[in-house]
Amino acid sequence: MKAILTDITKCIGCNQCVIACKNTYNLPSEIPRHWQTGDGLSARNWTTVIRKPDNHFIRKQCRHCQEPACATACPVAALHKTPEGPVVYDSHKCLGCRYCMMACPYGIPRYDWDQPIPYVRKCIMCYPRIKEGRQPACTEACPTQATIFGERDELVAEAKRRLKENPDKYINKIYGLHEVGGVNVLYISDIDLDCLTMGRDLQEYPLPKTTSAAMNSVPFVFVGMGAFMTGLHWIIKRRMKLQNEKENGGANNG
Ligand code: SF4
Ligand code: SF4
Ligand code: SF4
Repeated sequence: MKAILTDITKCIGCNQCVIACKNTYNLPSEIPRHWQTGDGLSARNWTTVIRKPDNHFIRKQCRHCQEPACATACPVAALHKTPEGPVVYDSHKCLGCRYCMMACPYGIPRYDWDQPIPYVRKCIMCYPRIKEGRQPACTEACPTQATIFGERDELVAEAKRRLKENPDKYINKIYGLHEVGGVNVLYISDIDLDCLTMGRDLQEYPLPKTTSAAMNSVPFVFVGMGAFMTGLHWIIKRRMKLQNEKENGGANNG
């Protein structure tokens, strides 16, 4: 199972990881919006570097939970956990209901307000690159190896080694090792990383258990509404496709 380990003590805040992500996915420049949260994540920024006092920099991205609450909350399986580790998103299935955004314990998925049809955006741990045997663009770009890629077991062993060899340097904790059932983006640090959980004290049990119970109690009328939205979404997409074809001279049929 692939994973990322970010060592806050090694990060110099150069933003090379952010730039590499934006370049890889052709993400446009950010448009400031009044409703945005302070962490800088958006549909156009899948990773950010949060600046903290005393030259501390905290890189934020999707944690690629081992049991992702976002995937459990999604009524049409637009998000799913791959066997390799990344949690990926299929925009063709997405209804735009934003249950995933409400379910995520780390506040990661963001809505793409600039698209005529609904999209939710987040880091995909460079799944296409991983499938090609390559590492994520952000870990490749990091000049200090503050954020590294590898097998989760090996990264956990590396994190334990650093904590053991430098007990005065680090907080004695691997962030994400067990919380919400364990995640695939881990951290070690010399400052508290409460900001990654928005100050919430996350428990060790996987959230899908509670998410699933909550989803099962959603009244039938909302399930019907979901089906209605799926149909509406399909009709809108179909109309846009037909409109495009009309404008392009009817080159494609179907
Ligand atoms: S951090 Fe949030 S968006 Fe990422 S896999 Fe976990 S629940 Fe899903
Ligand atoms: S793993 Fe890939 S998608 Fe995720 S932040 Fe890094 S470059 Fe972006
Ligand atoms: S590239 Fe590395 S050192 Fe630079 S901000 Fe990102 S994690 Fe920190």
